Amino acid sequence: MTRTAKVPTGLLIDGRWAEATGGTREVRSPHDDRVVAVVGEASEADVNAAVAAARHAFDEGPWPHLPAAERGRLVYRIAELIERNIDELAELESLDTAKPLADSHQDMSDIAAVFRYYGGLGPANTGRTVEPPNPDVASEVVREPVGVCAQITPWNYPLLQASWKIAPALVAGCTVVLKPSELTPLTTMRFAELVQAELDLPPGVLNVVLGAGAPVGSTMVSHPDVDMVSFTGGLATGRRIMADAAATVKKVALELGGKNPNVVFADADFDAAVDNALTAAFFHAGQVCSAGARLIVQREIRERFVNALVERVAEIRIGDGFTEGVHIGPLISRAHRDKVAGFVDATVAEGAVLRTGGAVPSDPELANGWYYPPTVLDGCRSGMTAVREEVFGPVVTVEVFDTEDEAVALANDTIYGLAGAVWTTDAGRARRMVRRLRHGTVWINDFHPYVPQAEWGGFKQSGVGRELGQAGLDEYTETKHVYHNLRPARSGWLGTTGGN
Ligand code: NAD
Repeated sequence: MTRTAKVPTGLLIDGRWAEATGGTREVRSPHDDRVVAVVGEASEADVNAAVAAARHAFDEGPWPHLPAAERGRLVYRIAELIERNIDELAELESLDTAKPLADSHQDMSDIAAVFRYYGGLGPANTGRTVEPPNPDVASEVVREPVGVCAQITPWNYPLLQASWKIAPALVAGCTVVLKPSELTPLTTMRFAELVQAELDLPPGVLNVVLGAGAPVGSTMVSHPDVDMVSFTGGLATGRRIMADAAATVKKVALELGGKNPNVVFADADFDAAVDNALTAAFFHAGQVCSAGARLIVQREIRERFVNALVERVAEIRIGDGFTEGVHIGPLISRAHRDKVAGFVDATVAEGAVLRTGGAVPSDPELANGWYYPPTVLDGCRSGMTAVREEVFGPVVTVEVFDTEDEAVALANDTIYGLAGAVWTTDAGRARRMVRRLRHGTVWINDFHPYVPQAEWGGFKQSGVGRELGQAGLDEYTETKHVYHNLRPARSGWLGTTGGN
């Protein structure tokens, strides 16, 4: 099927579509490398113009001073906008990422839920009064918007990751310059077009620029008129951004990678644990920050568990996301597939046992895309390449443990700390494990679900700060202590004499 995208080719700056002055970029489908859109590439001057528009809208415009309920009302309407255009947006997301259309539909429903949640939360975020030192003082802590926010998103969940940033920033009263991944800009552009056409956002409140990490993203990060950077992406980029933001001491929020353990005890519900181990590792071809890429199984069930897993991998249908019944699409790019294949080859060379997958599929229908099969690496140990590195592909490593202490040690043996799961029918063990795991989300007897009301983010090198939940809104605010003396008097510092 020949599909192309109809999205704006320019940049959204100060409430208008402006032509990009940094050239153009072809957006290609990972399914067959076809060009599905040609979009504009921002120059540094375009980024500067977008930041200037956001600065002006924040410093001079009405946006930060509107009642939060009024901003919330507009953000709530974005949810309806998404739902009215859900089919088109889902198709665009699948065109760009090649993920199954049903997955993109689910993403769009989740996005609507995020806008709805933050739309309603806005008015609740008003600060608090503080116990005064005496009755002549009123003391309160108020929350104010941070200011101009640079928001930079990855390619695996393009519009979903953008929604986690845009919704709270707007409700808080911030203004935004957003840059989607250069690999997957389509839904963000169409989203911006819909918002621009149908909502009365003041000009400059939401600006969208397109282009590469450098110079487009890096210019946003180091710009002196930007107050905060919110970034979702890889660890190496996160480190770079934190360093670049340090020169102007910007507030940073970082959602980085994960190396997420999926710990299965012998007393677990066996079928449910096997079934979810598949979803954990292979959903969206493993291109999920919280993918359960490290299966850690208790010794007495290891062999039966891995055999069952490998058998069920055969049921996973790989192919074009627009084909009914397909479970996973390709990886995002040739370079990424090469990287994933390299991790697998290195780990096998280190002694892992390849149980299934591990070679590019030979099916001619998949020959022009960046496909890689679900791969199970058994007999893995700490320190092996695919156990240590975030592979971000359909690859699961299997490690074994005997005791609860060993399970904890393995699950925490990573520089990351995004998410992890524990499978057990022993409630006491489940609670002990929850307390000891150093990960931002812990699932018991499940894998992957999240809700907009609960914070999402990482311990250790998985990030700084939180998205979603109340904390996801607080990220976009500064606190200000207001101490109001209701009965002004001399301080008495220089005694009681002097003055008039
Ligand atoms: P990436 O780091 O390569 O790129 C992410 C974004 O950063 C892109 O928009 C890119 O253009 C931009 N960028 C690159 N260099 C930059 C620079 N120097 N300055 C400013 N911006 C720059 O990541 P990716 O490959 O697009 O995404 C995959 C990664 O994202 C994985 O590591 C995954 O774990 C992570 N991720 C994390 C979460 C989470 O919630 N923690 C969610 C989704 C993805």
